Amino acid sequence: MSPEATSPRSVLVTGGNRGIGLAIAKAFLANGDKVAVTYRTPTDLPEGILGVQADVTDEASIDAAFKAVEEANGPVEVLVANAGITKDTLLLRMSEDDFTSVLDTNLTGAFRVVKRAARGMIRLRKGRVILISSVSGLYGAPGQINYSASKAGLVGLARSYSRELGSRGITANVVAPGFINTDMTAELPEETQKDYLSRVPAGRFAEAEEVANVVRWVASDEAAYITGAVIPVDGGLGMGH
Ligand code: NDP
Repeated sequence: MSPEATSPRSVLVTGGNRGIGLAIAKAFLANGDKVAVTYRTPTDLPEGILGVQADVTDEASIDAAFKAVEEANGPVEVLVANAGITKDTLLLRMSEDDFTSVLDTNLTGAFRVVKRAARGMIRLRKGRVILISSVSGLYGAPGQINYSASKAGLVGLARSYSRELGSRGITANVVAPGFINTDMTAELPEETQKDYLSRVPAGRFAEAEEVANVVRWVASDEAAYITGAVIPVDGGLGMGH
């Protein structure tokens, strides 16, 4: 068990009702933290995880979710901005709405939650922000101009956040997964999946828990001096970017 397990922290994971977000929530729960997740679609959650409804494109619902978490678990000390969507299509077929709606969820959504979390973290004089990006944000991917742009934007967000708030005991880092077996990747055509697999040095895709373990570590005391970093969990696909 890692050292911080003795002092439970209030952890919030956006989009934590399934996929990578749920695996992250479970990892923090196993660590002894007080864990809340946001969901849009009501889902049965494991015992011990508090669910709060929120849409990251809606500032008022984010504020209400934070209030509920603060009341139940105390101010959010660890925030994982994980909620994300794809709307893949090639550039010439990509509508402006395909672009802006992905940016609104993946990048502006992260901005809305990290901004809301900052209030409590500044008061606490400590905090951990982890933004879930993607190998696509740094490596690029055909058909993902919207998604890659949103995920690359998270890097600038984390770095400026680190520079603004680093002296207050707050770190902000990006975790960039490669191909992880979830609903999101199950939707990809078989040909695309084969193509990705052929380029992954590890020769396999990963399970959500492999991302969750890294996120939990980045939020631990052991990682206190890491901020503004991009940590790939991609089987070598991006070669460390
Ligand atoms: P899933 O599609 O399985 O889950 C996405 C989660 O985001 C769901 O909980 C969903 O909620 C939530 N969500 C989507 N839009 C919103 C919104 N507007 N407001 C609130 N919540 C929202 O995705 P993954 O678990 O695969 O991905 C999680 C994160 O990891 C994403 O940011 C993704 O981009 C990133 N990632 C995933 C990779 C992969 O290979 N799977 C690779 C690299 C990065 P609901 O259930 O209500 O729809």
